[in-house]
Amino acid sequence: MGTRVYVQLWADDPEKGNAAITAVMDEMRRLDNLMSHYKPDSQLSQINQGAAAGPVQVDPELFDLIKLSTHFSEITEGAFDITYASVGYLYNYPLHVRPTEEQIRTALPAVNWRNLEFDATHHTIRFGRPGMRIDLGGIAKGYAVDRGVAILKARGIQHALVTAGGDSRLLGDHLGRPWLVSIAHPDDPHNPEKVVTRIPLSDAAVSTSGDYERYFDEDGVRYHHIIDPHTGHPANKVRSATVIGPTATQTDGLSKTAFVLGPEKALEIINRLPDFDAVFVTPTGRLLYSKGLRPPAPRPPGAPPPGSPPAAH
Ligand code: ADP
Ligand code: MG
Repeated sequence: MGTRVYVQLWADDPEKGNAAITAVMDEMRRLDNLMSHYKPDSQLSQINQGAAAGPVQVDPELFDLIKLSTHFSEITEGAFDITYASVGYLYNYPLHVRPTEEQIRTALPAVNWRNLEFDATHHTIRFGRPGMRIDLGGIAKGYAVDRGVAILKARGIQHALVTAGGDSRLLGDHLGRPWLVSIAHPDDPHNPEKVVTRIPLSDAAVSTSGDYERYFDEDGVRYHHIIDPHTGHPANKVRSATVIGPTATQTDGLSKTAFVLGPEKALEIINRLPDFDAVFVTPTGRLLYSKGLRPPAPRPPGAPPPGSPPAAH
């Protein structure tokens, strides 16, 4: 997955705890072998190599995750789109390579999730037009985290944290209190002293997309790994977007959405989804919150203290 995986858990017996961690790591490796676009013989790579020429059959699990990805495209008006990779592959962040405007113009028509053709009976996927590529980097880590948590639960673990890249899920609480999830400062993301906020959470998933994870700067412009599928350029409305919700597969998909759409549009979607919240760090460093995380409105002057009985008339 090109990322770090982290597991923390409580178990009555250390052997049981260590075996559970090994099982999660084995699952991460299995999913990486299936879904990595870095691995030329993964099924995901087989799709990219063959699906323009004809249908490519894949495991139902991969089929379902790709199908689910298109569901996220649908509810986000294409802000989340795994075919972004048709342009995305032209960027190489470690080598400071980015496409020219001409290259983007040529590749962009291949970015459109609606051109993914599914056959649910045979579990095949086909590209409806040439030049298409897909990349699950924006959802597979969340999915892997959810799979990890399912494995821990099945082994009787009740308190745990599983993290892969920017995606985490919390099982239960942290020694009787909520876990405290930090949101990194975009200018100093690895400094635990400089986080922008900490959010108490139990039994929840949280994903952050930031412009500081994979990037290079050139002439004062940051070229980073979250691409607006409508333009082929890195999205630039915010520095980071964090989404909180029930599962990491969902929050992973929605964190790119929130990043690409920016606070105004993304909050319209998030505030409509009852189980989700979001936090944004804007380019000027402001924090913006969805409805569920905002502090209550200040009490009007003269209002009775909270919890007092209604005044008799
Ligand atoms: P992390 O991988 O650290 O969890 P993110 O969740 O922000 O970080 O995912 C970033 C990845 O999502 C990119 O590296 C790329 O693989 C993928 N991606 C980028 N833009 C989009 C997009 N518009 N839609 C879907 N996936 C995207
Ligand atoms: Mg992620």
